[in-house]
Amino acid sequence: MSTQTPAHSLSPLEARMEHGALAEKVARWDQLYHTEDAPEVDDATYDAAKRRLLEIEAAFPDLAAGSPTARVGAAPAEGFGKVRHAVPMLSLDNAFEDGDVREFVGRIRRFLALAPDAPIALVAEPKIDGLSISLRYEDGRFVQGATRGDGTEGEDVTANLLTLSQLPRLIEGAPRVLEVRGEVYMTKADFMALNQRQEAAGDKVFANPRNAAAGSLRQLDHRITATRPLSLFTYALGDASEPIADGHWQFLERLKSWGFPTNPLATRCDDVEAVLAFYHQIGEQRAGLPYDIDGVVYKVDRHDWQQRLGFVSRSPRWAIAHKFPAEQARTHLKAIHVSVGRTGVLTPWAELEPVNVGGVVVGQATLHNEDDIARKDIRAGDTVIIQRAGDVIPQVVGPAPDAPRGPAAFSMVAALTPLGGDHPVCPVCGSHAERIEGEVAWRCTGGLVCPAQATERLFHFASRNAFDIEGLGEKNIAFLFHIGRVTKPADIFRLGEIEAAIPDEKKALWRSPKKDKLAQSIPRDMLDFHTQRLGPLPLIAFEGWKDKSVDNLLKAIEARRAIPLERFIFALGIRQVGEATAKRLARHYGSFGAWRQAMMDAIPRENEAYHDLVSIEDIGPSVAADILSFFEEEHNRIALGDLAGQLTIQDAAKPVSTGSPVAGKAVVFTGELTAMTRAEAKARAESLGAKVVGSVSKKTDYVVAGPGAGSKLAEAQKLEIAVLSEEEWLALIGG
Ligand SMILES: [Zn+2]
Repeated sequence: MSTQTPAHSLSPLEARMEHGALAEKVARWDQLYHTEDAPEVDDATYDAAKRRLLEIEAAFPDLAAGSPTARVGAAPAEGFGKVRHAVPMLSLDNAFEDGDVREFVGRIRRFLALAPDAPIALVAEPKIDGLSISLRYEDGRFVQGATRGDGTEGEDVTANLLTLSQLPRLIEGAPRVLEVRGEVYMTKADFMALNQRQEAAGDKVFANPRNAAAGSLRQLDHRITATRPLSLFTYALGDASEPIADGHWQFLERLKSWGFPTNPLATRCDDVEAVLAFYHQIGEQRAGLPYDIDGVVYKVDRHDWQQRLGFVSRSPRWAIAHKFPAEQARTHLKAIHVSVGRTGVLTPWAELEPVNVGGVVVGQATLHNEDDIARKDIRAGDTVIIQRAGDVIPQVVGPAPDAPRGPAAFSMVAALTPLGGDHPVCPVCGSHAERIEGEVAWRCTGGLVCPAQATERLFHFASRNAFDIEGLGEKNIAFLFHIGRVTKPADIFRLGEIEAAIPDEKKALWRSPKKDKLAQSIPRDMLDFHTQRLGPLPLIAFEGWKDKSVDNLLKAIEARRAIPLERFIFALGIRQVGEATAKRLARHYGSFGAWRQAMMDAIPRENEAYHDLVSIEDIGPSVAADILSFFEEEHNRIALGDLAGQLTIQDAAKPVSTGSPVAGKAVVFTGELTAMTRAEAKARAESLGAKVVGSVSKKTDYVVAGPGAGSKLAEAQKLEIAVLSEEEWLALIGG
């Protein structure tokens, strides 16, 4: 960070470029964190990126429009009803050093024009690492619960919250409207027990308690939530029909008297020194607490002061979160292995002597890539420092400074070249491994012949945000792949047919109590021999499978035979096509047939179908190239046809309000807007059924041009497309 140019010294072009690149990263991290419960970077990296964005925006305010800094989280996932928060659910500013906290109190004094020694009482509460929620009570009855979502609009998780035994359903003596906010979390012990159960059932295991809590609460089927051990703490007020208390401490007391769970460690401190002492004391207790916390929150106690202090951009001036540093531990790095991902990326990881890091036993850690290992000089045999920062997969910080070192530096070439071999190969399939020019990653070139890639792809295909097939986790996919029953996605939808065709007498044989089941790891050639002679074996022939579990799996698969187009596209696992891009493709092309035809048409590039593809927002030449190279491969086209034949692929949702004059129209915004931000304009247009695209083509219907519009305006004039001013646009859509 120290080598960065101060934001105010950047040229406007440099600022725009750096801001654009960083905003894209942060938006992606936000998306992963909030809608997929799968963080990609550690908190420190994320916070640093976000601070830099804010710095640049402070120097170049026009860059703030639509920036991820303006959002608290991500928009709600589909599948849940949406709840607009009566009072926005905002995020807190962070403090990292004691000095930041003293400065926070100093700012409050200056803002309220208090004497330098005026006492400011603060309430300090451990910051629970869970999922923020809002609970609405009307006439004392719990009526609605919502996630935070993007801070303005969240998901309706009322039914899911009702499965929490700690949630008061009815409260006595409450105001007519009362909205209480808090955190749903999972204790460390419940988390470990849940993961054990998940693993035994062949289901997804969670990276940490926060992900487990989020994944459990945000289940579309609340009966699944009911089986998950979720806990609750409440700590804030949202909407209320009358004042509840004079101060935060008194408010917490009232919450308790109404039966809400509040954190017993919360304390009222008379001054900043008491607050800091509390922080350091909690820091020492942290590993022993039954739940994960990532800091301590301080709030000005007096409500009248809170009101005067108000908000600065998206955070209250009267509260701050004092974060803990990442939890670290020392352990022995036994070996460095390489695993193969869905797209063939070869990723090194560390096998560790298991060690307890803040209550979670860690036996493996990611090493990212070869460059990262070299930069930190991590070697097999080292004593290393590992850290677990809130949400991320544990990572190796580096060798412990005072310990003896491992013998040899790590090299991907050496790790991937077998004894006696002369070139690097994939550790799973033995195909050539290569480091692609300009990338840090190594890749297996085996494609579909690589079982690791094939199983990773199948796993992605069945995962929550794709086909979401319950019971088809990593373990079961590996098993079905191993026995040759499922080697490509379409095979999943043939499982039922195969099982149904096996005669009952043959199944009955395997139900006999005397008959030993086959090991799941039975060698493949023995299985093939058996299958050739006797036909396919029923799944109940294998250990771990019973009629009931087979039945449940087949039912879960049948339930997904009809699938929305956007999920279908996402499930294909095309490089760079994440959920957001899949959604845009689905909306743009409407149906599977139209999309497939358009992609085939676009393959020659530089034609109308291609320009139409790259005119979709956020789809540039690089994403387009990945999509088209998927369609260029014959085996992909065959697999796609095979799969589509098994499914009912539902057309993308039609624009909501067909009555609007802009429904179905393609609109480009360019230049400066004055009445609203670009992001707001876009959201508004989309809610009216318009399609907002990034570049002007013959298919564009309107170009809305503000001051400073350049090449897009020129292009529109050349193509004789209707150009509207912002006012004309607003008039068209009715204000
Ligand atoms: Zn391979």
